[in-house]
Amino acid sequence: MLKNEWQRHRERAQELMVDRPAASEVLRFFVAITRLQEELWRELEAGLITDASADPGTNYFAQPVPQPLLGRLGWFLSGMKDSAPGPVVEAAERLRCEEAASQSEMLASFWQGTAGAVLQPGPDDFFARAFLQPYAVYVRSLLSMQWKGPTPCLCPFCGRKPSSGVLRPLGDGGQRSLICSLCLCEWEFRRIVCPACGEENHAKLPVYTAEEPKHVRVECCDSCRCYIKTVDLTKNGLAEPIVDEIAAIPLDLWAQDHGYAKVQLNLMQL
Ligand SMILES: [Zn+2]
Ligand SMILES: [Zn+2]
Repeated sequence: MLKNEWQRHRERAQELMVDRPAASEVLRFFVAITRLQEELWRELEAGLITDASADPGTNYFAQPVPQPLLGRLGWFLSGMKDSAPGPVVEAAERLRCEEAASQSEMLASFWQGTAGAVLQPGPDDFFARAFLQPYAVYVRSLLSMQWKGPTPCLCPFCGRKPSSGVLRPLGDGGQRSLICSLCLCEWEFRRIVCPACGEENHAKLPVYTAEEPKHVRVECCDSCRCYIKTVDLTKNGLAEPIVDEIAAIPLDLWAQDHGYAKVQLNLMQL
């Protein structure tokens, strides 16, 4: 049976936990989150939470988060207790105890935010992204849109920034795509363009790689001082871009030490 993306991510994270001790704590927590996300996604697919599938013509990214889904937030937050780091458990508990109206408001401001997401990096952004991601993946699957425009810097489905890039084998080289930080959509993107500001001057777009892991590149832009990490599947076909990007934490530290800011933090707020 074909594995769904949550299962693939989890299996890869479990492999990398062994190889990358520096990332093992983060990956352990990531594995626990994907279990919760998969359960939510299965309920959505089965029509147990919303009946969104009844109207495939609607763009649910432009609609409010459905009420029955909001009702699952408490379950989601409680489910993190055993695996999250202490401060996250405390923040989850605080959010869980808030009134339904303020929980809804927080989730709505995340869901409605586009390029300059309303929420700043931090606990609310983390909880909202983790919780709403399965819904975003689900509603994207309902849209039959095919993207045929110029390569956009934002996700053509939900309008969010990419949190990672990927190079897939194509001929003798690699075709670059970006991966959405919310709905996990992957869209083709020209190789020599900054995904933050559109810079196309090769000389201003340095790429750095480390000894380990060799298949993760730090793609920088000296015009806007942003960077994104891209997972090169031509060098490691076993990689799962989203997971390998998270696991390459030392490259984020390196980039930030050199004065670059990430285009978009990933799910783990790294
Ligand atoms: Zn998206
Ligand atoms: Zn740039």
